[in-house]
Amino acid sequence: MKVNNVELVISAVRPEQYPEGGLPEFALAGRSNVGKSSFINRMIGRKAMARISSKPGKTQTLNFYKIEEQLFYVDVPGYGYAKVSKSEREAWGKMIERYITGRDVLQAVIQIIDLRHPPTEDDVMMYDFLKHYNIPCIIIGTKADKIPKGKWAKHKKIIREGLELEEGDPLIVFSSETGLGKDEVWGEILKRM
Ligand code: GDP
Repeated sequence: MKVNNVELVISAVRPEQYPEGGLPEFALAGRSNVGKSSFINRMIGRKAMARISSKPGKTQTLNFYKIEEQLFYVDVPGYGYAKVSKSEREAWGKMIERYITGRDVLQAVIQIIDLRHPPTEDDVMMYDFLKHYNIPCIIIGTKADKIPKGKWAKHKKIIREGLELEEGDPLIVFSSETGLGKDEVWGEILKRM
């Protein structure tokens, strides 16, 4: 999809603040610094729409980006940032849980993982949490440009096994640097709308 029109409609914390209108939503989750902002920016063809993190773990809101008046990307604050206090972590958990469990226009969660490494404990926890609520997931193995092409299959297998990825949840090799995987991800999004 060629994106010309993107609008940050609202940074929300509470359900009353979520946008109305019933457009399908795709939420983006990932460990802090995994490359989530870069992923969003590549998908919408912008240099810096979604903030590239300077202070990981800082944004504690759900950012609703309206794309072409057709769908929303919902940017979820990154998880697994060590320097977040217990109370902040709890507030984060509550906010995500309320959104995930109560949002009927949510079509899938796009979970961003670093293709170079096995999933972290937090990655596994996040995926388990989403599966507990039967949320369809699209897994992105990003930073693929940092490993040779010949090793992608092996790294995919490690992620697939580490997460115990369910049948039907795709795992897409991606690079925000080169744009690899962009069309495939758009394909997965559009077929779920
Ligand atoms: P966020 O905290 O998850 O939003 O992560 P960012 O998008 O800010 O990215 C973290 C760092 O990884 C930045 O220095 C990015 O330039 C870099 N990065 C993100 N995606 C890629 C990628 O696909 N390839 C490479 N080589 N670097 C990336």
